Amino acid sequence: MADYSYPHTHLFLNGEWKPAAGGETIAVTDPATGEVIGQVAKAGIADLDAALAAAQAGFATWSATSAYERARIMRKAADILRERKDRIGWIMTREQGKPLAEAIGEVAAAADLIDWFAEEARRTYGQVIPSRAPNVSQQTIKLPVGPVAAFTPWNFPINQVVRKLSAALAAGCSIIIKAPEETPASPAELIRAFADAGVPAGVIGLVYGVPAEISEYLIPHPVIRKVTFTGSTPVGKHLAALAGRHMKRATMELGGHAPAIIMADADIDKAAKVMAFSKFRNAGQVCVSPTRFLVEKPAYGRFVDGFVAATKGVKVGSGLDPASTMGPLANERRIPALEELIADAVEQGGKLETGGRRIGNSGNFFEPTVLTNVPVSARIMNEEPFGPVAIINPVSGLEEAITESNRLPFGLASYAFASSQAAVHAIGTRVESGMTTINHLGLALPEVPFGGIKDSGYGDEGGSAAIEAYLVTKYVTTAA
Ligand code: NAD
Repeated sequence: MADYSYPHTHLFLNGEWKPAAGGETIAVTDPATGEVIGQVAKAGIADLDAALAAAQAGFATWSATSAYERARIMRKAADILRERKDRIGWIMTREQGKPLAEAIGEVAAAADLIDWFAEEARRTYGQVIPSRAPNVSQQTIKLPVGPVAAFTPWNFPINQVVRKLSAALAAGCSIIIKAPEETPASPAELIRAFADAGVPAGVIGLVYGVPAEISEYLIPHPVIRKVTFTGSTPVGKHLAALAGRHMKRATMELGGHAPAIIMADADIDKAAKVMAFSKFRNAGQVCVSPTRFLVEKPAYGRFVDGFVAATKGVKVGSGLDPASTMGPLANERRIPALEELIADAVEQGGKLETGGRRIGNSGNFFEPTVLTNVPVSARIMNEEPFGPVAIINPVSGLEEAITESNRLPFGLASYAFASSQAAVHAIGTRVESGMTTINHLGLALPEVPFGGIKDSGYGDEGGSAAIEAYLVTKYVTTAA
């Protein structure tokens, strides 16, 4: 493996990498070893004021840059990212823990997503509306909404930023990103690729610090016109309320508790393998991770056996070891949280089929875990585990599966394996979620919608609707 070193992370303000004005930093920890590997600058109010002034000036510059030129610069950033993907992936694995191949894959996927939004930049069409009077022309035009404040989490340090950043830049907005303090250096490398590609000073700002302090300052600030957040539902509700109080447009990508319906007529062996792979990807720290497996009774035993066998085949270890298929949890605080959820499920009558414990004493490693027959009163049937824990319960048929799927306030992703066309149709239309993937894993591509309903938030971060979140539609009517 190449000899990379883990960098310290500075703020990016008005085109320059800088320490915080107050000189403060936050330690960054390797989740595989518990060792402090670097520092990230902790922004204070003076830094946020600098970011806001730069974003205001940057908006004037960028919104006046043609869509054609914006797209050219964005595509160049994508190419730079591809050239640097091995090093950036290594940095991500050091700070986040995920297997190196997944980290490098995340960087490569980010480049594809940038390309897709660069193309979208050139397609922000308005309308010509037939007028009532012969000498009047009526049209709508799409304009960038203004400077954006974006808040992103640590589970996909680059992917969570690039969705917001690419759509905002494509639309002509400037953006201030509050990226995760736990995993700061890989998103900083993403920003560096854009800066090196020629995005003008002020268009992108990057800050870290105390999340609540930064959001409380940026969201109400008159310079900011749009808020976008990915994270937990309670924090999302708080930030959406703050945005509402100040009449700021908002996109909220929040938590989930995805149901996965397995009908007896499906290919059960394939379902068990594909679903176990999906469950333990990124150690289950994925907002769309399948969590409640609802299996029609005739297939229950076979699905549980297949899923448990696949679970036991997961190789937990350092993300830098090529043999590892699952790394540590990104945050130590998730370990007691998972242990409590599992203990409660077992106390309430659930069966622990495999896993359930921390591995070793150093690093945040946790066993891939399967619980079966867990009553709906258990906390884990109601709270997002956000870790490598699957719950498999039997259901009598489709109706019970759909009722259980829709029981929770979440509505982000849902999964199903089924053959009958009637079941496929019912699942596609009646399961309350922003996204449903049936008989394969098909979520989160740049060109398809990504977003939730109910307590999982609102707004799309993928597909042709995504750029709309950063645009306003203006109506212009002219008499000759
Ligand atoms: P958390 O609720 O403390 O934080 C979640 C994210 O929100 C973090 O990135 C954090 O920096 C940010 N945040 C927290 N308070 C904020 C505030 N006042 N203003 C702005 N940002 C703020 O939870 P956690 O322990 O970091 O993560 C676990 C939970 O977070 C999970 O249960 C999951 O629901 C959620 N989460 C969701 C996603 C996702 O992709 N939707 C990603 C990461 C975490």
